[in-house]
Amino acid sequence: MVASREAVTQEIQIGPTRRLVVTSGWCKSCGICMEICPQDVLEAEKVTGKVILAAGEACTGCGLCELFCPDYVFTIQEEEAVGA
Ligand code: SF4
Ligand code: SF4
Repeated sequence: MVASREAVTQEIQIGPTRRLVVTSGWCKSCGICMEICPQDVLEAEKVTGKVILAAGEACTGCGLCELFCPDYVFTIQEEEAVGA
């Protein structure tokens, strides 16, 4: 395993087959995502100012954060549903 450099990640499951991966280590604290998220999921961490998933359970997977973040912090991943 190669250690990643400050690429701190958080992730949340969105429904059965999707998840939002947040590489908050890449965040430059511009605040765009926090302004545009319609669900108020995203906040700035108090010390570093980097994005955190403050209310991840409210995320609808709309993809606006992925679209607008200039530093590619957000990725919505599709997974195959597991099980029958
Ligand atoms: S838009 Fe991207 S770089 Fe800007 S605060 Fe949000 S996560 Fe950080
Ligand atoms: S996918 Fe939509 S609801 Fe979820 S954090 Fe991003 S902007 Fe907010």
